[in-house]
Parts: sequence; structure tokens; C-alpha cells
Amino acid sequence: MSAFAASLARNDGSTTLVELVPWAGPLEHEAGRRHRETAQELVDDERVTALTVTDNAGGFVRLGPLTLGQAIHNMGGECVVHLACRDRSRAALQSTVYGLASEGLTNALALSGDYPKEGFGGRSRAVFDIDSVGLISMLRDAGAHGPSFTIGCAINPFKAIESDLVPQYLKLALKVRAGADMAITQVGYDTRSWSELLQWNATQPQPIPLMASVYILSKGVARVFNSDGVPGIRLSDALKSWVDEQAASDDKGRTAFLEFAAKQVAVVRGLGFAGTYVAGQRNAAEIDQVLDMADDFQPDWRSLLADIHWPEPTPYRLYEEGPVPQLASDRPSAPTKMKRVPMSYRFNRLVHDVAFEPGSRGFKVGARVYGALESARLLWPAHVLEQAVKIPMFDCQDCGDCSLPDIAYQCPEGACAKNQRNGPCGGSIDGECEVPGRPCVWAVAYDRLRPYGEATTMLERAPVIGDNALRGTSAWANTFLGRDHYARNKQGEAS
Ligand code: SF4
Repeated sequence: MSAFAASLARNDGSTTLVELVPWAGPLEHEAGRRHRETAQELVDDERVTALTVTDNAGGFVRLGPLTLGQAIHNMGGECVVHLACRDRSRAALQSTVYGLASEGLTNALALSGDYPKEGFGGRSRAVFDIDSVGLISMLRDAGAHGPSFTIGCAINPFKAIESDLVPQYLKLALKVRAGADMAITQVGYDTRSWSELLQWNATQPQPIPLMASVYILSKGVARVFNSDGVPGIRLSDALKSWVDEQAASDDKGRTAFLEFAAKQVAVVRGLGFAGTYVAGQRNAAEIDQVLDMADDFQPDWRSLLADIHWPEPTPYRLYEEGPVPQLASDRPSAPTKMKRVPMSYRFNRLVHDVAFEPGSRGFKVGARVYGALESARLLWPAHVLEQAVKIPMFDCQDCGDCSLPDIAYQCPEGACAKNQRNGPCGGSIDGECEVPGRPCVWAVAYDRLRPYGEATTMLERAPVIGDNALRGTSAWANTFLGRDHYARNKQGEAS
């Protein structure tokens, strides 16, 4: 068991991860000197459980996390390596996983990853061959053939609207079933959202250790967060004003921001998180200061709640208000009004029930017809017809392993920038995708499924991992002839 896993197992608030963001350049590059020195000092700090290394965070290209992870390992430190699905196919991810295992780097944070921002000669192409749920499954599987991984995942409990927030929790439950050992929150400034996550976790069949992110603010960082410059992070106008006021002081607000972070660490521990994930430090001394102050604040953490609670103006809540406004109770919130479901969606459901639902008469007919077409080598005209229907209706990308029924008749490849087949990434804001100009498919799916009583169970299924061998072939044929993920998952359940 890694030192990180052992610390998590204690679940007493003491686990401390500190984030390192690699630089653009080789390991020994001058640009990384300060980071390498900071890493060594943090490795020597007994209060820091492990360092975590980001993987092209924000979509910006940096030194790979495996290289810096190895360097930290060689310094004698414990490391949690971020692995994002954005830049690597499943084959490349799997070979990276073998590399991690070989180096003894067996703590991994499985992420979908932010959409690419820059690259050599222009913007990089996003891969998203599998998503974070698929990656968790891969890491869990790797443990069967080598050292087992301690697998982390992300959760964003700070969404302001119901159709963004609830699917985050549904996806977390799916990640846990797929093999996640722990979860780390996105950065946020709403203590009630933290306590809602803890409350929800306590009601789950398999509660996991949770960690909360604390970012040491600065005026510039607050401006970026406030303007939605980092996918999924919200920082309210009120908090931005407070940050600007502090930044006018002689030390540009640094003392106030370190104290703010320390109060957050104290509250995180007091609330019952397994620990804290700290980011935004300029050097190791700042981490030392934050942890010292957090220890001092700890006994009286409840009195700090109001200082660090900066929610959105009218956020959706999973639970009613608790004993104080900054905390949740254990009473679920009253149901909200449902949205109208478009006619096209009702029509698609009807067609699915009649023709594509396994066991239906239409499905049996389809299986016979497509079997005969395949024997006669006449699948191609059926494929052309299928595409003539699905491209205008769904922006179908002809992946051959169709997930339309999984996402309330939206194509994960055409309508979702990250091909998310197992629930939303963390990047949506108020129902909009982190890639501007389109809605988040999972927020739409949630609203469409609510009137049918299926919204909260939409991810109660095995992880969906598309098979690229089917690309460019008829998805209808693959459904009727038992070659797509529905059939594969059914076989998996049976065995
Ligand atoms: S559509 Fe939703 S899940 Fe897909 S990338 Fe955008 S925010 Fe993420």
C-alpha cells in the first residue's frame, strides 16, 4: 500500500496533497528550477503526504507528468500522477499506465482533461478515445496484472444549476463502481457544496475518502476564475471584490490569501474530508505557512465558515439548509419544476421502444433482416440509409458503436466536445459546454429524462467504452447483430 493510500485509509483530514504544474520544457530546463527546488523542499516536509503532477492542465502543453513524477520519486517523495484522456488514445494511456507501474508510481488521478488550448503549429487535436470512467476501469484492470493502483477521480460539486449538478454526482457513483478509490473536488468557494458532497457520500453503498481542493488566490488568479477562464471553476463577483480589496495592500494581499487558504484547510478537516489538495503556492514556504495557520485555526473551525463561504447568488441545492446557512442538512431538497420535453425526443423514444429495444418485436425483425443483409453482403445500402437519417437528425459521426440511447438521443461524438459517454466532464457552466456555443449534452439528457423518472438512474449501468473497430460500419447492424457496447456489457454481466 502506498503512503498516500495508507493516509487516505485513516480518513482523518490529515492527508495533504500539493499540486505541481510542470513547465514547458525538458526536466532540467531553467524554467523548471524553482519548481524542482520547491518539489524537493515539499518532499522533505513530513506534513505533505504526496505531490501531485498535472497533465497539460488547462489544455496547455507542459512537461509530461510521468517524467516529473519519476523525478519526485527519485527525490524520495510520494507522487500522485494526473492522467488525462485528452491527448492519448486508449493504447497510449495503457502503455503510460504500464510505465507508471514500472516506476512504482501507483497513485493516479484519472481525468477527462480540459479541452486543448495550444500546440505546436496550432491547436492540438483532442483525442478523448475513452473518458475518465473508461480510464478508471483500465487502471483497475492493470492492477490485476501488476501492482495495484490507488485511483483518484474528480467531482465538481459547485455547479449552480440542477441539470449540471446532479449528473456530477451520478457520474461520481459510476466512477466508484468502476473502481475509483477516492475523489477530489474542483476548486470552489461554497462550504455548503462541500458539506452536500460529504452528506451524499455518507448515503452511498460504497463511501470513499474525499479530498477538497484549496487554491491559494492572487488578484490575477481570481480574475481568471471569475471570468470562467478555467473550465468548471466559479468565483463569484463578491469574492472577486474582496480579493481586489486585499490585493491593494502593501504585500498585494499575499498574507490575506494565505490566511484564506489556511481557513479553508481548517474547515475541510473539520467537516470530515480525508484531506486537502492545495494548489497555487509560489514556493514551499507558503505551504508551510498555510499548514501552520490551519493548525492554529483548527480548534475553532466552525467560526470560520462565514469567512470562506462565497456561493453563487441562487445555487441549486441537493439538501436543505443545515444548522447554519453554510452547511447542508440531511434532508433532500424539494423537487423542482420539470422542463418540457421536445416532440423530437418523444418520437425518438417511441422508435427506440418499438424497433431497437432488445426483446421487442421490432428488434427481432431487425436482427433477422440485418442478418440476411449481412449474409448477402448488402449491409452497405442499409448503412447509407442509416446515415441519411442520423446525420441530419443527430450530427452522427458514424462511430458504429452508437450511444444515442445512453444520452437521450444526442451523439457523444457530434454534440459533445469530449466524447463523454459516461456522464459529464466537470467543465460545464449553467448547462453550457466548456467549449462555447453548445449545450452540455448531459444537462440536456438530465432534463429530458426527468419526466420519465429516469434522470437519476441514467448512469446506473456498466461503463460505456466505444469500440473503434466498429467505426464506419452500420451501428444499427451492430446493435441488431450483438456487436456494440450494449451486447458487450451484457456479456460482461453474464460472465
Ligand atoms: S458537452 Fe458537457 S460533457 Fe461534453 S465536453 Fe461539453 S461540458 Fe463536457
